[in-house]
Amino acid sequence: MTAERTLINLLDLDEAGLRAFFQSIDEKPFRAEQVLRWIYHHQVLDFESMTDLGLALRQKLARLAEIRPPKILTERVSRDGTVKWLIGLPGGNAVETVFIPEPGRGTLCVSSQVGCALNCTFCSTGAQGFARNLSTSEIIGQVWLAAHALGHERNGVRRITNVVMMGMGEPLLNFDAVLPALRLMRADLGFGLASRRVTVSTAGLVPGIAKLKEAVDVALAVSLHAPVDDVRTQIVPLNRKYPIAELMQACREYLSGQKKRSITFEYTLLDGINDSDQHARDLVKLLRTVPSKLNLIPFNPFPGTSYRCSSASRIERFQQLVRDGGIIATVRKTRGDDIDAACGQLAGDFRDRTRRREKRRAEGVKL
Ligand code: SAH
Repeated sequence: MTAERTLINLLDLDEAGLRAFFQSIDEKPFRAEQVLRWIYHHQVLDFESMTDLGLALRQKLARLAEIRPPKILTERVSRDGTVKWLIGLPGGNAVETVFIPEPGRGTLCVSSQVGCALNCTFCSTGAQGFARNLSTSEIIGQVWLAAHALGHERNGVRRITNVVMMGMGEPLLNFDAVLPALRLMRADLGFGLASRRVTVSTAGLVPGIAKLKEAVDVALAVSLHAPVDDVRTQIVPLNRKYPIAELMQACREYLSGQKKRSITFEYTLLDGINDSDQHARDLVKLLRTVPSKLNLIPFNPFPGTSYRCSSASRIERFQQLVRDGGIIATVRKTRGDDIDAACGQLAGDFRDRTRRREKRRAEGVKL
C-alpha cells in the first residue's frame, strides 16, 4: 500500500470527528475549529496556507491527512442560469450536482449515491441501477466544489442558500455517510445553513425517517407521487415494504415535538397514471393528516421512458383541486432541462455496468 492511500481525508469528518482525529494524533481538539474555518469559510485546502497552525503541526498534518474533494469533470450552464457539474469519482464513476439560481436564493441539489437501488419507474437514475454509496467527503465535497466554483459569496450575498439532497440516490439508504455531511452543512464552522434550508428527500424509507429525526435538525421532503397504495407501488416499488399509511405515520412522528412546521411532499405528475381528479381528491384527504406542503413536479422525460408528462391544463386543474382542498401546492418550474439537469434526469455515469444487476439484487435484498 502506498503512503498516499493511508492519508485521512478530512472532508470525511464532521466537527466531532475532526476533534476526535486531533485527539488521536495528540493534538488539542480545538484545532478542529481552525481547520474547519479554513476549509469551509476560507475554502483553503492546503495545510501550508493555514497560517494559524504552527509549522510543526502543518507538517504533521501533511504527513497524515489530506483535504481532497472529488474532481469536477465537466460544467454545463443552462440558458436559465442553472449549472450542472459532472463530478468524477475514483474507479471511473461520476455523479451530478445541480445549482439552481432564483431571485433571492440559490439551491444546490446534491447526490448521495452512484445510481440508486430503488428502481422508481419514472426516474432515470433508478433505471441505471445502483453502483455504490458516496462517502461523506464525496457528498460535502459537492457543496464545497459548487461554493468554490460559484464564488462562496457575491457582494456579501451567499450564492448557495439552500441544499437539497434531491440528486442521484436515496440519501436515507446511505445514512452513515450522509449524516456527517448534513452536520457540516448545518454547522457554523461549516456552511452554516439554517435547518429549514437543508432538505433530505426520501422515497419513503420509514426507519430512516425516524433515525434522521434523532440525528440532525433538517427539513424533510417525501416523494409521495400517489395517494393510494396500488398506484404508488407501481411507480415507487419501495411502497410494497413501507405502504402509505406507515409512511404518513412516520411523517407525523418526524414533526412531533419539533419546531418544524411541515413536510414537503413531492408528486411527479405522470399522464394517465396519477393525475386524475380522483387522485387529487384522495391526495387532499391524505395530506390533511399531516402538516404538509405539496410540490407538484411535471414529469421530465428521459431516453427509454414510456411515461408522458401531464398536459399543462391537467397540471393546472390538479393544482386547483388540491388547493381547493386547503393544501398549499406549488408547481415546480422545470429548470435546466436544456442541459439534462431537471428532476429525474440526472444520469451521472458509471462504468462497472457488468456488476450492476448483481449489486442491485444485493441491495434489493437489504431493503
Ligand atoms: N431518492 C430520493 C432523492 C431523489 S429526489 C427521493 O426519492 O426523494 C428526486 C426527486 O425527483 C424525487 O421526488 C423524484 O421522485 C423526482 N423525480 C425523479 N424522476 C423524475 C422525473 N423523470 N421527472 C420529474 N421528477 C422526477
